[in-house]
Amino acid sequence: MSSTPSDTAGDSPRVGTAGCSGESPPRHSTERVLVVEDEPALLRALEINLRARGYQVSSSGDGRAALAEAARRPPDAVLLDLGLPGMDGSEVIRRLRGWTAVPVLVLSGRAGSGDKIGALDAGADDYVTKPFSMEELLARLRALLRRDAQPSSRQVFAIGHCTIDLAAKSVTRRLDDDRGPSGAEPVRLTRTEWRMLEILLHSPGQLVSSGRLLSELWGPGAEDRSYYLRFHMAGLRRKLEDDPPRPRHLLTEPGMGYRYQS
Ligand code: CA
Repeated sequence: MSSTPSDTAGDSPRVGTAGCSGESPPRHSTERVLVVEDEPALLRALEINLRARGYQVSSSGDGRAALAEAARRPPDAVLLDLGLPGMDGSEVIRRLRGWTAVPVLVLSGRAGSGDKIGALDAGADDYVTKPFSMEELLARLRALLRRDAQPSSRQVFAIGHCTIDLAAKSVTRRLDDDRGPSGAEPVRLTRTEWRMLEILLHSPGQLVSSGRLLSELWGPGAEDRSYYLRFHMAGLRRKLEDDPPRPRHLLTEPGMGYRYQS
């Protein structure tokens, strides 16, 4: 009992500072999570960690049983392995989306990005790639549950020295001199930059797929034009990030999409 061997697993500072409000120790004992995973050891680890955080957990090792369970007791979020025996994860998402908008966080074990894109297109909300850190998975889960609890209630966001007010449709950059803040100047965004930024800010901490951005910004048929997104994202970073080549808030998920990190 004399020494505690690097005993920091429970309070990773990375997770503690990521959110905008201190939501570290969960108290959501009423939130139900459905876990769908066919690897018994991983399923068990997920159940233990989720229950330790106060979630109610139901679990299933295959897609059909998971769909039946979701219909019987609708969950607040689904953690879904893509590689399942019988019905695969993407098909489970498509069938869920027939009747529910419950947040779905995909656990992907495959190297390629094709299956993740397929899952996002089918209606998944976010993904983690195995092997994943439990803290990262829990942070993503909290972000999805938070989104569901308070749909786009926030209107003012910060990116570096910039303040974005969605209601007023304004961006201002704080100016500093040697003695600290010395004023502010307006930042002008193009119409496309605005719409792209709005979509990202409405889902703080969450992946927004390239496919969704393209279809919301340019309509159906634009799915293969991800260079549009790169172009406008570069403009947003140039105008908003303190260090545009090393963005801290407007992040790229290579091959997948973009994420606003507060
Ligand atoms: Ca599997």
